[in-house]
Amino acid sequence: MSLQNLLTETIKASGPLPLSAYMALCLTHPDYGYYTTHNPIGAEGDFITAPEISQMFGELIGLWAVHEWQARGASKPFSLVEFGPGRGTLTADALHAAQLRPGFLQAMQLYMCEASPRLQAEQRVKLAPHQPHYITSVSELPAQPTFIIANEFFDALPIDQYRLTDTGWVMRTIALDENEQLTFSETSTTPPAIIAATNSRDWVEHSAASNTIMADLCSHLQQYKGAALIIDYGHLGPEGAPLAGDTLQAVRRHQYVDPLTTPGEADLTAHVDFGALAHIAHNHGCRVGYMTQGEFLTMLGIAERAAQLNDQAALARLTAPDQMGTLFKVLLVRA
Ligand code: SAH
Repeated sequence: MSLQNLLTETIKASGPLPLSAYMALCLTHPDYGYYTTHNPIGAEGDFITAPEISQMFGELIGLWAVHEWQARGASKPFSLVEFGPGRGTLTADALHAAQLRPGFLQAMQLYMCEASPRLQAEQRVKLAPHQPHYITSVSELPAQPTFIIANEFFDALPIDQYRLTDTGWVMRTIALDENEQLTFSETSTTPPAIIAATNSRDWVEHSAASNTIMADLCSHLQQYKGAALIIDYGHLGPEGAPLAGDTLQAVRRHQYVDPLTTPGEADLTAHVDFGALAHIAHNHGCRVGYMTQGEFLTMLGIAERAAQLNDQAALARLTAPDQMGTLFKVLLVRA
C-alpha cells in the first residue's frame, strides 16, 4: 500500500475528497503522511525555516517570552508551549537567551504539540535539559499562565477552498480522472457562513482546523492569562471577511511542485489568514497586535545582535522586505 493507492481506493469507495481531508492524509497520516515520515526541515530536507537560519530568531523570541512573563508578575509555575516545534531549534535558542533572567527556567514547564514522531524524537534530544511534555490539544495544558509560540505551524494545517458558481457554492475536491490519476474537481456544498457572506466567484479559503486551535488557545489564555506569538506567511484581510485567492502550494526539495503528483512526499501549505485568527482572538476578548516579521525582529533588537554575531547575511534573510521580512507576519495575542 502507498498513499497514492490509499487515496485512489478512498475516492473510489466514498467519492471525491474535500481538500482539507486530502491535506490531512498527505501531511499527517500515521504511516504515509509527509510530516510523519520525513525530516522536512534543513538543507537536506524540503524547506528551511527562520530558526534554522540563525540563532537570533529563537533568542529574540526568548526575550519576548521573558518580557510577557514579567509583565504578568513572573508567575511560578507557568507553561511555555510550542506548536509544531520542528527540530526544536527555536525553543532551544529561546531558552538559551531566557536563562539570563533568573528564575525563568525554574518556573517554566515546557509543553510541545508535535504530529511527527521523528521530529518529536529530535526535540526530546535537543531539549532534554528542559524535559518537554507532549500534548495533542490545548485542553491538556494545566491551569496556569501560558506563553505560546507557533512558527510556521498554522500554514501546515488543512484548508478548504470554496467559490460561488452560477449553480451555487462549490468546494474544491480531489477526484480521479479517466486514467485514475488524482485531479482537482468541484463538489456542491453549503459553505461556512463567513464564506457564504463573501459571495466570491474566486476561491476563498477556510481552515476549520486552524480556527478550532485558535479558539481553544484564546479561551485558555483568557482564562489563565498569558500571550501567544504566531509567525507565518500570510495576509491580513478585513477581519471576518476572508480575501479571495488560491494559496495552496506544495514544496519538495526546495522547489514548488504540483500538489497532486507526489502525495505524502511534498510539504503542502496555505497562506495563513491572519484576519480570521485575529477575529477569533477579539471574539474571545484578547488583545491583538500585528506586524511584519521584519518589524517585529527589528523592534526586539536584531540589528544589534547581528552586529555582535557579525552575521549581516542572516539579518538580511530574516528581515529584508524581498526575503522573509515582509511576507512573514507576526500576530501577538495577549490576555
Ligand atoms: N516551527 C518549526 C517547524 C515548522 S514546520 C520551525 O520553525 O522550524 C511545521 C511543524 O509543525 C513541524 O514540526 C510539523 O511536524 C508540525 N505539524 C504539522 N502539522 C501538525 C499538526 N496537525 N499537529 C501538530 N504538529 C504539526
